Amino acid sequence: MTHFPPSAISEFDAFTAAIGDRTPALFLDYDGTLAAIAPRPDLAVMPEEARAVVRRLSALCPVAFVSGRDLDDLAAMVALDDLVFAGSHGFDLRGPDLRRQVGVEYVPDLDAAERSLHDRLGGIAGALVERKRFAIAIHTRQVAPPEKPVVADTVRAVAQEQARLRVTGGKELFELRPNLPWDKGRAVLALLETLGLEGDGTVPIYLGDDETDEDAFRALAGRGIGIRVMDGAAETAATWSLRDPAEAAAFLGRLADWLAEG
Ligand SMILES: [Mg+2]
Repeated sequence: MTHFPPSAISEFDAFTAAIGDRTPALFLDYDGTLAAIAPRPDLAVMPEEARAVVRRLSALCPVAFVSGRDLDDLAAMVALDDLVFAGSHGFDLRGPDLRRQVGVEYVPDLDAAERSLHDRLGGIAGALVERKRFAIAIHTRQVAPPEKPVVADTVRAVAQEQARLRVTGGKELFELRPNLPWDKGRAVLALLETLGLEGDGTVPIYLGDDETDEDAFRALAGRGIGIRVMDGAAETAATWSLRDPAEAAAFLGRLADWLAEG
């Protein structure tokens, strides 16, 4: 059932009441959450004001980015030191005192799928095959509408050949990932444990905008707070909403003010 959760910024007092006297641990998706979706991934740049707000927050509470992007790509786009980064949907984790990779044994399967996708999609204008260490993204935003089903069929065929991978779909993209019980939600739970943030004094807050973030909203249900960046009703396990990346940055600014006031 779809719904539109209350706004975390319009009802900021009720939101902070839900935090109470606990310290937030912030988990932030990047694309569609702090950076507006762009025609190509390299064009999805986080505004400087948003970067400044995240820098400010990172002095007030733990901050981690959790993204489908490749780890190095994510860290380069965020361009802030000393944060925790979870790339490839949480398969690839790195922080000041942290390094963990999940699914290393699936890299050869991903290599084979990557070659096959390049071979078969090479003739389709606008089809972009993007290799990450632990996933392959196939972007269809720039593919002509009549060709989009061809791309979809090709991705499914390649996934059938590589039985140890699975296909997921997002906004205008498909992804092949190791068929492991691992996702952004499990990555967030692992990070809470690794970073010593499991106690009652911490409340995990997760901001995300799409289906892959729903795994995190579900994983945190009952112990944390989920905020979905969304512009209309949708099926979501998040209990709060924000309209778009600009509003998400404004919300984080208010949260920083509130935390700084103590
Ligand atoms: Mg996103």
